Amino acid sequence: MQNIRSILFGELLDFLKINDEKPYRAGQIYDWLWKYCVSSFEQMNNLSQNLRELLANNFFIDSAKIISQQISNDKTIKVVFELIDKKIVEGVIIPSENRVTACISSQVGCALGCKFCATGKMGFSRNLTIGEIYDQSFLLSKLSVEKYNIPLTNIVFMGMGEPLLNYKNVIGVISFLTSQKGMGLSSKRITISTSGIPAQIKQIADDNIKVNLALSLHTANPDVRKKLLPVANKYSLDEITKSLKYYTSKLKLKVTFEYLLLSGINDTVDDAKALVAFCSNIASKVNIIEYNEVENLPFQKSSENKTALFLKTVYEKKINVKLRRSRGIDIDAACGQLANKQKKR
Ligand code: SAH
Ligand code: SF4
Repeated sequence: MQNIRSILFGELLDFLKINDEKPYRAGQIYDWLWKYCVSSFEQMNNLSQNLRELLANNFFIDSAKIISQQISNDKTIKVVFELIDKKIVEGVIIPSENRVTACISSQVGCALGCKFCATGKMGFSRNLTIGEIYDQSFLLSKLSVEKYNIPLTNIVFMGMGEPLLNYKNVIGVISFLTSQKGMGLSSKRITISTSGIPAQIKQIADDNIKVNLALSLHTANPDVRKKLLPVANKYSLDEITKSLKYYTSKLKLKVTFEYLLLSGINDTVDDAKALVAFCSNIASKVNIIEYNEVENLPFQKSSENKTALFLKTVYEKKINVKLRRSRGIDIDAACGQLANKQKKR
């Protein structure tokens, strides 16, 4: 049995040819898979019964389904998806003026173990398939229409997992999300967030994928970064910087630096100055993120005063900086809080 959403269009054509079916069926099947996201061949009701059975005997569909949802006071909705092997990932939709952003997962768990992150605590289970990542977007868009009357306008890979360690499937799904055969979203509305894997950052540029990139910097101090993000022991800030410059110059795009404010760890005026020095020579903007506290982890968010002073210090140096307030905290839907808490309750 093969996963029908992991084969190429040409392979589907070959399969139809060998089985004496007309080539135009491939287009119909593709529509069912990527436009309507059906979960069974039975639903493909413009195909003959024979063809539906032939497909069912040779392929499976790797559907994700929503098994629960929770709405936060601020209208953020957290959704739990069950995959065909019963594993679970989470996604969030966040409405704001004129837009709805979906935060989706790229892996079940994450191998990188960042000290402040709830997903990092779980460890890594497996990569998600193209179909599973696509279903999250499709189902969240449907939910967005139901709840807020508009389809998704933006997608961020900021749920569970390190997207650049599932490069092939993340790039694969982006081609469907941006294709007229799929969701038809502009790649300008898609953001990959990464803890910093230089080879794959360069690969995005070489593959000419004009997708936004957010780098989870969190500190410009290499020693502190190594303590917070174990992956920083493998890839230095210098290497990451080189890859980011390659990305910005080749694709003519800016990178966004994400900076999580952790009380007593990276939130002083000196830290802010170091951030300014770090990002000044890269085409970039900065998002300061409020930390969402995670049970049993020893980190706290910075005080309002420290946050304001940090922001002011960066802003005064003419850096394009924004504060991203937490959303959906009351239901653990905020970034870094996605860790299947629901299941354990
Ligand atoms: N693995 C990727 C993408 C998923 S994490 C990455 O690390 O970039 C998405 C963002 O949420 C990252 O910037 C991450 O540092 C941040 N994050 C993790 N835990 C958090 C928490 N508890 N509160 C706020 N942001 C958090
Ligand atoms: Fe993985 Fe990102 Fe969490 Fe780090 S912050 S553990 S890279 S999901």
